[in-house]
Amino acid sequence: MSGLLEFEDVSVTYRTSGGDVPAVRGVSLSVAAGEVVGIAGESGCGKSTLAATILRLQPPSAKVTGRVLFEGEDVQTMRWGDLRALRWAGASMVFQGALHSLNPVQRVGAQIAEPIRLHEESLSDSAVARRVGELLEQVGLPAARARAYPHQLSGGQRQRVMIAMALACGPRLIVADEPTTALDVMVQAQVLGVLRDLVREFDVGLVMISHDLSVLADLCDRIAVMYAGRVVEQGPAGKVFTDPLHPYAAALAASFPHIGDMAARYAPSGLPGDPPDPADLPTGCSFHPRCPKRFGACETTDPQLRSDSAGRAAACLLVEGR
Ligand code: ADP
Ligand code: MG
Repeated sequence: MSGLLEFEDVSVTYRTSGGDVPAVRGVSLSVAAGEVVGIAGESGCGKSTLAATILRLQPPSAKVTGRVLFEGEDVQTMRWGDLRALRWAGASMVFQGALHSLNPVQRVGAQIAEPIRLHEESLSDSAVARRVGELLEQVGLPAARARAYPHQLSGGQRQRVMIAMALACGPRLIVADEPTTALDVMVQAQVLGVLRDLVREFDVGLVMISHDLSVLADLCDRIAVMYAGRVVEQGPAGKVFTDPLHPYAAALAASFPHIGDMAARYAPSGLPGDPPDPADLPTGCSFHPRCPKRFGACETTDPQLRSDSAGRAAACLLVEGR
C-alpha cells in the first residue's frame, strides 16, 4: 500500500490574545491508499485541529510545524493552484453539522453539482444532472431527491447529501469529522454503513474522526487515540478497542454507548473530569490527573509513544514497563 496521507511530527499552535494554545503536539500518523483510519478522543483533544491541516483549512491564527504530506506533496507549503486541485478532487471533507454546511435556499442537487462543474467545466448540464443522480443513489437516496431543499430532508438524509458532495469529484481521501455525532443512534448506524460500503467499493481512503471508539472499531482498519493534542495509542482497530494498552483508550473503550443513552455517547464512563486545557497542561503525563492507574513517576515523566513489533504503539509508563 502506498502512502496517501502522512503526518510527520505535526504540531498546531493557536496564537490567541490570551497566549499560545498548543492544540496538537507532535503527531505522526500515516494513511495508506484505501485505508480507513480512525481518530478517537474526547472533545478538545485536537482531532479537528489536526484534520483541518489535511486541506490547509486551519485559521490564520494557527501555526503549523512538521509536515502534512498528501501523496508526497506538502499541503502546508504547496502553491495555491495545487491546493485548489487537492480540495475536492484529491481529498474532501464531511463535517458534523450538515444542516449548517448546506445552503438552505438551494436545492441539494444544485449543491452537489457545484464542485462537479468547478472541476469538469466541459460537462453538459444533462451529464452533471446524471452524475448528481448517481451520487445520490450511491448514498442510498433516490435520484429525485436532488430537487429537495435541505429542510425537506431528515438529518440522516442531509448527512448522506454531504457524503455525496464529498464523493462528487472522485477523491482519493475523505476526511469525516464526527459525521454522525448529531444523529440518533439508528440513523448513525445507517450513515456509517453507507460510508463503509463506499470506501470499500471505490477504494477511497478515509480518516474518520469520532469521540466514540465503538463507532471506529467497527469501521476502521487502524485507530489512533488522541489526548491533549497527542496520539497516546495507535494500532489495529480491533486491538485498540478490545485490548487497549493505554488507560485512556481503555476508558474510551469501556464507554460503549447504549441505544437511546445520549449521555453515554459524550462522556466515557468511569472517567472523572475533562481533558486539560491545552494552554495549561499538567506536568508529566497529560492524562495522569484522571488516570486510574497512575503512580508517582507519571506526575513528572511525559511518556513517549513507543511502537512494538506488532504495529501497536502507546505513550504510557505502565506500557513501557511491561
Ligand atoms: P476536538 O476536535 O478533538 O474536539 P479541537 O481540535 O476542536 O478538538 O480543539 C483542540 C483545542 O484547541 C481545544 O482546547 C480548543 O479550545 C482549541 N481551539 C480550537 N480552535 C481554536 C481557535 N481557533 N483558537 C484558539 N483555540 C482553539
Ligand atoms: Mg472536533
